[in-house]
Amino acid sequence: MGRIVITGGAGFLGSHITDRLVSRGDEVVGIDNLVTGSITNIEHLFGEKNYRFVEQDVSRFIWVPGEVDAVLHFASPASPIDYLEMPIQTLKVGSLGTHNALGLAKAKGARFLIASTSEVYGDPHVHPQVETYWGNVNPVGPRGVYDEAKRFSEAMTMAYHRYHGLDTRIARIFNTYGPRMRPNDGRVVSNFIVQALKGEPLTIYGDGKQTRSFCYVEDEARGLIALLDSSENDPVNVGNPNEFTIGELAEIVVELAGSESEIEYHDLPVDDPTQRQPDITRAREILGWEPEIQLRTGVSRTIEYFSGLLGL
Ligand code: UDP
Repeated sequence: MGRIVITGGAGFLGSHITDRLVSRGDEVVGIDNLVTGSITNIEHLFGEKNYRFVEQDVSRFIWVPGEVDAVLHFASPASPIDYLEMPIQTLKVGSLGTHNALGLAKAKGARFLIASTSEVYGDPHVHPQVETYWGNVNPVGPRGVYDEAKRFSEAMTMAYHRYHGLDTRIARIFNTYGPRMRPNDGRVVSNFIVQALKGEPLTIYGDGKQTRSFCYVEDEARGLIALLDSSENDPVNVGNPNEFTIGELAEIVVELAGSESEIEYHDLPVDDPTQRQPDITRAREILGWEPEIQLRTGVSRTIEYFSGLLGL
């Protein structure tokens, strides 16, 4: 039990982590500028004695009065369409925001966890991706704003660990999905589900043979908290290793939604990774964690969520 600050606390992943921390008895201070996060993700917590929300941009100086035991830096646009629309904010929150969050952790003598990403591996030449792989990232391509900001945030985190002796954690998060994704988020699971429910064509980018490995948000949040509670300072992949092509995902969504939607092929975005699958040996061994919710179960639950949200 402790007092935990989470940036991006009103976001998709940040709000699920907050729910778990609050319900186990931690006191949580959520910070968010609500650019991609939403009050609807956290308003159910406003009556809780151990929850407080602050609307603030963490790319500027942040300060939280009182004792802090851990700082979790989750603030960032995380969907390709978001970081293409907000390239400079994405770079700033990954660099200046990380520096501010680390500074807060250092001043408080708090543990620090950075939400990094499988995008640090870029379009990977090593498959599945192990934490020792350095990646294949185009620094000047349109995705570079996110990938390089996250790579910088990992470097900055390790520098605070080595130079200041800060107790740090680095989580590399792979494609996560589930309730509280925005319907217009632009990511593949939410796009396909919303399209299937509305009877609109599912938009496959490229030929649909590219792969991703999708982790249900409850599994992801549980894994991230296990990492926070561990004593591991080196990066740990936190994702579901079950790999699917985007074409397979489209078929599963259409079937589970009971939809008659057709498939429509669109251009592949620049630098879209051709394959992605986490090697989670370290997470299994160090955290004793692995995902439990398989894709069909998680997609069914997410369909239920979006049906309610869209009134369908
Ligand atoms: N994608 C797609 N149709 C969509 C949205 C995404 O085919 O409507 C593809 C995208 O090109 C990528 C994969 O699905 O190959 C995953 O995209 P997403 O934006 O969810 O996350 P990424 O893993 O690329 O960050």
